[in-house]
Amino acid sequence: NKLLLTGGTGFIGRFLVPELLADGWDVVVLSRQNEQAVARVLGHSVKTIRDFNDWPYDEDPAACINLAGEGIMDKRWSLVRKKALRDSRIGLTERLGEWLNQRGARLSVLLSGSAVGYYGTAHGDQPLKEDALAGDDFSARLCADWEAAAAKVPADRLCLIRTGIVLHPNHGALVKLLPPFRMGLGGPVGHGRQVMPWIHIHDMVAAIVHLLNHQSASGAFNMVAPGAVDNREFTKSLGRAVHRPAIFPAPAFVMRLAFGEGAMLLLEGQRPIPAGLESQGFTFRFPSLPEALSDLL
Ligand code: NDP
Repeated sequence: NKLLLTGGTGFIGRFLVPELLADGWDVVVLSRQNEQAVARVLGHSVKTIRDFNDWPYDEDPAACINLAGEGIMDKRWSLVRKKALRDSRIGLTERLGEWLNQRGARLSVLLSGSAVGYYGTAHGDQPLKEDALAGDDFSARLCADWEAAAAKVPADRLCLIRTGIVLHPNHGALVKLLPPFRMGLGGPVGHGRQVMPWIHIHDMVAAIVHLLNHQSASGAFNMVAPGAVDNREFTKSLGRAVHRPAIFPAPAFVMRLAFGEGAMLLLEGQRPIPAGLESQGFTFRFPSLPEALSDLL
C-alpha cells in the first residue's frame, strides 16, 4: 500500500518513517529537499518527490500523513512569518486536495496535522476533550484553518492529530529547554500555572500508526499523554531528571522580549485530555512525565 508523507524529514517524521516501513507501507516523502538529503536525514533511502505531480506510481496513494509546516517557534511571528506558517500548512493541504481531485483519486485515510493550540487559551486549565471549542488567537486559527483544509481533501476517513509538546532530548521543545536546566539555570516560565500537554515521541509515533490502522478512528484526536502537568511541575520533573536545581524563574516579560507574540505558547496553556485515543483503545507506554523523562534523558 502506498503512503504519501509530507513533513517526513521533520522531528516526528524521522521517527515515524521506520515504523511505517516496518508496518509494510510503501512510503513516498514529499520534501523540498532531494532524495539524497532526505536519505541522510532518515538514515536510509526513501522515495522522495518535490511536488504532488511527481507522484511516481500509477496506483493512487491509499493513505496520506500530512505533517509539513514551517517551525512555529523558529522565528518571531512577523506578518511575513505568519503568512509562511499558514501557507506551508493550509496552502500545502489545499494543493494536496486539488492534486487528488485532478487525478480523480480518493484516499482511504488522511491523518493531518494540527496542534493543541487549536483550543486557544480561553479554557483555562479545564480538561478539554476533542469537542471543546476552538480559540481565536493566531495559533488557534492556524490550527482550525489547517483542519478545515484537510476536511476538504477527498478521503474516506480523516483523523486530525492535535499534537501537544512532543518530547525527545535532541528534537523539538526540549532542545531549547534542556541546556539551561543542565546548567542548573532552569526554572518555571511566567506564573508557572500554565498546563504543558506533553507526549513522549514513542507514544506519538505509536498513536499515529494506531490511528492509521484502525478503521473506526476518525475525527479529532488530542495527541497528549494523560499525565499533563503545569509548568511548575514540569520544571521540577525536568530538574530532577537532570539532577540539577530548577529555581531560576523566566519572567513573562523576558519571554515576550525573546519570543514576541509567540511567547503566548509558553506563557499560557491548555489541558487537552486524550479522550479520543483512549476510546480507540490506545495504550500509552509513557503516561506520566517522570517515567517519560527518565526514559528520554
Ligand atoms: P518539523 O518542524 O520538525 O518538520 C516539519 C517539516 O515540514 C520539515 O522537515 C520540512 O520538510 C517541512 N516544511 C517546513 N517548512 C515547509 C514549507 N515552507 N513548505 C513545505 N514544507 C515545509 O515538525 P515536527 O515533526 O516537529 O511536527 C510536524 C507537524 O506537527 C508540524 O506541522 C508541527 O507544527 C506540528 N506540531 C508539532 C509539535 C511538536 O512538539 N513537535 C507540537 C504541535 C504540533 P522538508 O524540509 O523535507 O520540506
